Amino acid sequence: MIQKIEYIVCDVKGVKIGEGEPIVIQSMCNTPTEDVAATVRQCKELHDAGAQLIRITTPGLRDVKALEEIKKELRASGIETPLVADVHFNADVALAAAAGIADKVRINPGNFSKDHDIAISKFRELISICKKYGTALRIGLNHGSLGERITSLYGDTPAGMVKAVMEWLSVCVEEHFENVVVSLKASNTKVMVDAYRLLYITMAEELGKLFPLHLGVTEAGNGDSGRIKSAVGIGTLLADGIGNTIRVSLTENPVNELPVARLLADLASQKEFDLNCATWEEFIVKAAYKFAGPLLDNKADDISLIDATVAGKHLSEAQIADYRDELLQACRRRFTKPEYIACPSCGRTHYDIETVLAKIKEATKEFAGVKIAVMGCIVNGPGEMADADFGYVGEGGGKITLYKGKEAVMRGIPQENAVEKLLELIKNS
Ligand code: SF4
Repeated sequence: MIQKIEYIVCDVKGVKIGEGEPIVIQSMCNTPTEDVAATVRQCKELHDAGAQLIRITTPGLRDVKALEEIKKELRASGIETPLVADVHFNADVALAAAAGIADKVRINPGNFSKDHDIAISKFRELISICKKYGTALRIGLNHGSLGERITSLYGDTPAGMVKAVMEWLSVCVEEHFENVVVSLKASNTKVMVDAYRLLYITMAEELGKLFPLHLGVTEAGNGDSGRIKSAVGIGTLLADGIGNTIRVSLTENPVNELPVARLLADLASQKEFDLNCATWEEFIVKAAYKFAGPLLDNKADDISLIDATVAGKHLSEAQIADYRDELLQACRRRFTKPEYIACPSCGRTHYDIETVLAKIKEATKEFAGVKIAVMGCIVNGPGEMADADFGYVGEGGGKITLYKGKEAVMRGIPQENAVEKLLELIKNS
């Protein structure tokens, strides 16, 4: 017997996320939250660029206070865009943000405590506050930060990610709280797509309900490769009919994320489209959307760009070759360049990550196939740099820690020498 599936729609202060609703596009501030003026300014820019939800990093209680101020100022200037508090670890911060300040709170409840029973009880407390104040939740689990309890049983795999999130969704169902969105992001596009597909099926089979899904490729980096990687992961799932809200994370001004997200959301509503594009950005995103699924699923080995045009001109052979390399690498089919795993930066970032990423890319371009992570902070960076071979992580106070695999091998390096030291580390390994 085919079970009837219930489609859940999350309502974030009037912005509806779920089946039957248009795909919602969102972004995240990268200003320090306590710098209220800078964050308000950036929220306005993101709103003007089309963001329908804006996320703000909220690691501590002082940030919750700042978020309250930011919200007041935005509302006073007529901007009603819902604000999402991004809380990674601290349950008390999540409880404070959910109590009428943030419109939605993003958490990984597994990080609330190493003791699973305590984490569950804090999560139930958070749910009761969300119910009281009409606050939505995003349960956001990232590949690479699953915790030992899950990885010891399932490994750091899509199955482990799904198992972990299903535990929290079951608590939501028990508590009759469904104003929830779920994300299972990864930097590896194959892992990300597999995790969301598996979650979709598992929710239908085990809960008989489909909670809305927030799609994103974490640490996608910048420039063409960041856009292509995001379009591969997000586009493949949207083409499957999976995904209700999206964020394209780029290590750039977050305003640049929104045209890419808009284009992906629009492509999802089109049955067919050609590759006659007005701009290069439009081309790289559309072509990734078109070709990524079959490449990721091993149903195709190559792409044809004979008919593609940008601003009325056919692509040169060099452009086609370069694009093919980027796309095949983003689909994890052929590795011809180093792979950069770079966080989009946020209020926790301790250095100018965009400039440093450009320097690292230039210094390491000959190391094809080597995975290099460039992360803004030591709190979340090491957990989220996935399976990088080397990591460059901001410590704060102008210092950098370098990682080889998961091990911190050099700490306290002054930022001025850190790219050079990273290069030495790669060469000597
Ligand atoms: S890793 Fe980057 S994006 Fe993630 S919390 Fe740290 S600085 Fe922010």
